[in-house]
Amino acid sequence: MNLNVALIAHDGKKPEMVSFIMSNKSFLDEANLFATGTTAKHIAKEGFAVTSLLSGPLGGDAQIATMVATKEIDVVIFFRDPLDKHPHEPDVQMLMRQCDVHNVPLATNPKAAFYLLRGIEYHFKLES
Ligand code: PGA
Repeated sequence: MNLNVALIAHDGKKPEMVSFIMSNKSFLDEANLFATGTTAKHIAKEGFAVTSLLSGPLGGDAQIATMVATKEIDVVIFFRDPLDKHPHEPDVQMLMRQCDVHNVPLATNPKAAFYLLRGIEYHFKLES
């Protein structure tokens, strides 16, 4: 499976991201992981290989949006915190827009991400 997955979590959602990657370890170990700076640190601490991009507020979401537009990212898992304000909200909106422009699947909460990964597994099983 040659799948490039972007992982992003706002600060209030980082514990959920860690718990999500641990419960989907066998899937994510097979994928190429990319993450915004601080999220990447949490992911690397759990033993995953991950390419660290800029921190979200410093342009990391915009960087991932560019990678979506240039077809370098296949899936975006972005645990947004709807209860907090973010100075880089315009970048977040741009990322979500680019996912829609380029038909790249985007999950913004753990349950959606869980079903997205199961769908991808099913798809690859049918292909093999
Ligand atoms: P971070 O960025 O992983 O560097 O915290 C995430 C974000 O806030 O978009």
